[in-house]
Amino acid sequence: MSKTIGIIGAGQMGSGIAQTVAAHGMQVLLADVGLEVAEKAHAGIDKALGKLVGKGKIEIADAEATLKRITPVGDYTPMSDADIIIEAATEKEEIKQAIFEKAGDVLAPDAIMASNTSSIPITRMANYSPDPARFIGLHFFNPVPVMGLIEVIPGLATAQTTTDRITAFAEGLGKQVVLSQDEPGFVVNRILLPMINEAVFVLGQSTAGIEDIDKGCRLGLNHPMGPLQLADFVGLDTCLDIIMVLYKTTRDAKYRPAPLLVKYVEAGWLGRKTGRGFYDYSGDDPVATR
Ligand code: NAD
Repeated sequence: MSKTIGIIGAGQMGSGIAQTVAAHGMQVLLADVGLEVAEKAHAGIDKALGKLVGKGKIEIADAEATLKRITPVGDYTPMSDADIIIEAATEKEEIKQAIFEKAGDVLAPDAIMASNTSSIPITRMANYSPDPARFIGLHFFNPVPVMGLIEVIPGLATAQTTTDRITAFAEGLGKQVVLSQDEPGFVVNRILLPMINEAVFVLGQSTAGIEDIDKGCRLGLNHPMGPLQLADFVGLDTCLDIIMVLYKTTRDAKYRPAPLLVKYVEAGWLGRKTGRGFYDYSGDDPVATR
């Protein structure tokens, strides 16, 4: 019998995880704040798969089969069948805590609860789940169907069998795994977020405009994408949430958020997902806004 994976949080990450898991033959139960939101995400995945078919990257039959394996759900009850429940909701600890407590009521006795958090300590969140030995960090990268890396983060109480099972699951999705200790930001975001934050300081101090900052990092550092363009991809609210976790957890002033990043989030300019961040996405091509 194929595995069943529960996914809670059907935003850009949850949708990407659902698509990837289903494309690898597993059943997906997809939940969000309500059935309607999960169904909207399902329609978004349908669209994403349609684009892949249009580009000749997958067969139409595979796209249909993948979509069929994803079931939007309005509550967590069906997730009692899940081998793994992956939480991919908004990067706020109180939201995640409520999810772990509620999903904990239906978690099967041998199932694993995993969090896609970018920065919140796994050891602490494990206490919100029924069994910290079966709780682990499983950090995907955006866009999930494209990116080849997953970070696996055991907490202090995570059992070795949980780490082994989740590593095998991640590799079964065709991804490479980096094992990280449970330190703020893990490996990749600990390096990336200070860079994005610094890019926003550079912009806020009018040292250079958006396009030149991104161009500088593309051509000068050989990065495929500039930090401001990448921030728009990640979501500026998510960037701010992560940098705040780094700041609050370490109390190190080097992680203080750039005031302009805070302003953009306050304005609701969150990046690609809202149509405007450092770039405006309303036309055919993104246009720098400063
Ligand atoms: P997003 O804003 O696109 O999606 C978040 C989703 O969570 C929304 O659909 C929202 O309705 C849902 N949600 C909020 N409260 C909920 C609740 N109580 N129950 C169920 N669902 C709820 O954000 P995202 O970019 O998909 O990020 C989700 C998680 O993935 C965060 O923890 C983030 O740090 C992490 N992450 C993000 C990226 C990235 O590049 N964006 C990369 C790796 C990990």
